[in-house]
Amino acid sequence: SARGVAHPELWPAAKSKGLVDAKTEAFVTSLMTHMSLEDKVGQMIQADISTVTPADLALYPLGSILAGGDSAPAGGDDRAGADRWVETASAFRTASLAERPGHVAIPILFGIDAVHGNNNVVGATLFPHNVGLGAAHDPALVRRIGVATAQETAAAGIDWAFGPTLAVPQDHRWGRTYEGYSEDPEIVRQYAGEIVQGLQGQPGAGQALQHGHVAASAKHFLGDGGTTGGIDQGDTDVSEDELIHVHGAGYPVAINAGVMTVMASFSSWQGAKMHGNKSLLTDVLKGRMGFDGFVVGDWNGHGQVPGCTAESCPAAILAGVDMIMVPNDWKALFTNTVAQVKSGEIPLARIDDAVRRILRVKAKLGLFEAARPFELKDGVIGNAEHRALAREAVRKSLVLLKNNDRVLPLKAKSHVLVVGEAAGDIGRQAGGWTLSWQGTGNRNSDFPGGQSIYDGIRQAVTSAGGTVDLSVDGTFITKPDVAVVVFGETPYAEFQGDIPSLEFQAGDKQDLALLKKLKAQGIPVVSVFLSGRPLWVNPEINASDAFVAAWFPGSEGGGVADVLVGDAQGHPRFDFTGKLSYSWPRTAAQATLNRARTPYDPLFAYGYGLRYADARATLVPQLSEVSGVDAAAANIDTYFVKGRTPAPWGFVLRQGAAAVPVLGDGTAAEMAGALALRPVDAGGVQGAGRQLSWTGKGEAAIAITGSTLDLTRQANGALSLQVDYRVDEAPAGTVWLASGTG
Ligand code: BGC
Repeated sequence: SARGVAHPELWPAAKSKGLVDAKTEAFVTSLMTHMSLEDKVGQMIQADISTVTPADLALYPLGSILAGGDSAPAGGDDRAGADRWVETASAFRTASLAERPGHVAIPILFGIDAVHGNNNVVGATLFPHNVGLGAAHDPALVRRIGVATAQETAAAGIDWAFGPTLAVPQDHRWGRTYEGYSEDPEIVRQYAGEIVQGLQGQPGAGQALQHGHVAASAKHFLGDGGTTGGIDQGDTDVSEDELIHVHGAGYPVAINAGVMTVMASFSSWQGAKMHGNKSLLTDVLKGRMGFDGFVVGDWNGHGQVPGCTAESCPAAILAGVDMIMVPNDWKALFTNTVAQVKSGEIPLARIDDAVRRILRVKAKLGLFEAARPFELKDGVIGNAEHRALAREAVRKSLVLLKNNDRVLPLKAKSHVLVVGEAAGDIGRQAGGWTLSWQGTGNRNSDFPGGQSIYDGIRQAVTSAGGTVDLSVDGTFITKPDVAVVVFGETPYAEFQGDIPSLEFQAGDKQDLALLKKLKAQGIPVVSVFLSGRPLWVNPEINASDAFVAAWFPGSEGGGVADVLVGDAQGHPRFDFTGKLSYSWPRTAAQATLNRARTPYDPLFAYGYGLRYADARATLVPQLSEVSGVDAAAANIDTYFVKGRTPAPWGFVLRQGAAAVPVLGDGTAAEMAGALALRPVDAGGVQGAGRQLSWTGKGEAAIAITGSTLDLTRQANGALSLQVDYRVDEAPAGTVWLASGTG
């Protein structure tokens, strides 16, 4: 069958909830009877606020405006507060409602990217980006975040949030990986309905805006997270089965939950641009899945359909895009579309269907009602309750990947050095889609009421009688008990975040140098890693005693301190509960780690995450980093971990007669009792001498003497051995492979 053409019968059936009812349909029908063709086409057009004024609405009865990416109402450096947004939104709404002869006044719909809170407004609560929420594995939390986000959005006079992103990213090089909850369709499925109902309220309730809810937009339909090489807006060349079960997983749930709008994806499926894909937009989404809301195009996405430009694209409308996001060229698109309907190129029935869908959503939202109690409502934006929720989300999003020697939790009564440019910088912690499109150029003064990770740690430690210093470069006056280094990716959005490899390379590896420098001075090092995806950071993990994946936590850095800093007795106040919702790569080449396929060989598997109780768990280091020699020279081929401690971990020796030191912090007797060496492949080690000799606290050596090894019995000459670390009898500490020699 033709590439890029879907078979609707293969797709799960769904049905929009609460969007269609007799009263609303009758209201829409009566409006439409009086609308001119220009009124109708106007409804289908969405212009960017930077190119349209309220006065334009007298000539062009537009259906919607957006303030996309960098288009805050005031523009430029003037970081608009909530009042500015309300003022702007009301000016457009009032203009859209002006009575004019021969024209039906329809209230305009105002949409923005409120993707981790209302991230467009100074002083709003910024929640962790979706990658962090995925790690929290908490659907109820996501619903509460939807409610809070809607309230902060509606309070700013805005009707519509361009979220949730229901992408299921399969290649972490994609710059939008962090906008997705997980590489696992199951998490996306579990969250999709919760976030939609959090944002929109109960389906069918009506007058959503009056209750502090907004319209949601499930995006980007479909296959945005599956492009080859993780290239943003690229081609998702997967089978229809994979499109349905991986990338499509969240949509039936979102539709059943009543999602009012769906945004088309920039990407293609099997070479066919989604904005022109009638089989998916119309036959599957609106037909099989029973979606009764409207499809909005993405930013000039229609212009990428073959034969189209930003100014003219009947193909997108014919394919099923109901509202075209045409930020700049909306006048030309309006004029051309009207002409295309008059010439019969676009049937009026298609226009009527699109307009009905748009008006239905406007009516269900309560846009035709005058009263908007949430607008300008004091005490909504950035309120204490929302900040507490964001802080809870931060705590739940953190994933502990390593905690050797139980360096965490930090003892509150200690001297902590917080290190790194990012530590005191909320903008760095908030990531992209934060006051500006790329999330760059923000200052802490842009986040009144927010708290950086440094501020959170300082507050927790000093209130318990400890001391905290902040140092950008790791220098200090008094030697600290422990250093917390905050580093990672700098903010980015969309294609600007695409990377060719998963190797973390920021700043020419200066963070790694910093970690090593601190360690060399005998200071235990805790890394708090900010990133929008798992990255290859083995050297950084090895140079750290503890390693925490903190994603892009947002404005409430205190949540990091809640978990990292213990009480005065050194007991945890909050445990780590986050588990990876994306697999963590073992090598930089592993951009795609698909659990359904073999080999699946991550460094930290999907679902991994230590708790304090597991603090003896083991990290598998990058050997070359620890020993200072490369793996081949050390005759060590690979390491592997089988599950979490107390499951055994091990390594593979290419040749026999090797000694592998093992470090631990128990007493000699404890360590000797805790460690046992046994072959994985009995054949390969027949008769081999294996000894565990403990050389004193802090170091033991496992010697494998190879005089009788029968290495020829394995094709590749490898000898697999496994080291068991029995936690029950073990010392309170950790064991890890430290180096190997041939
Ligand atoms: C993005 C969308 C976003 C839109 C409006 C596009 O570039 O792909 O996710 O909603 O811009 O800002």
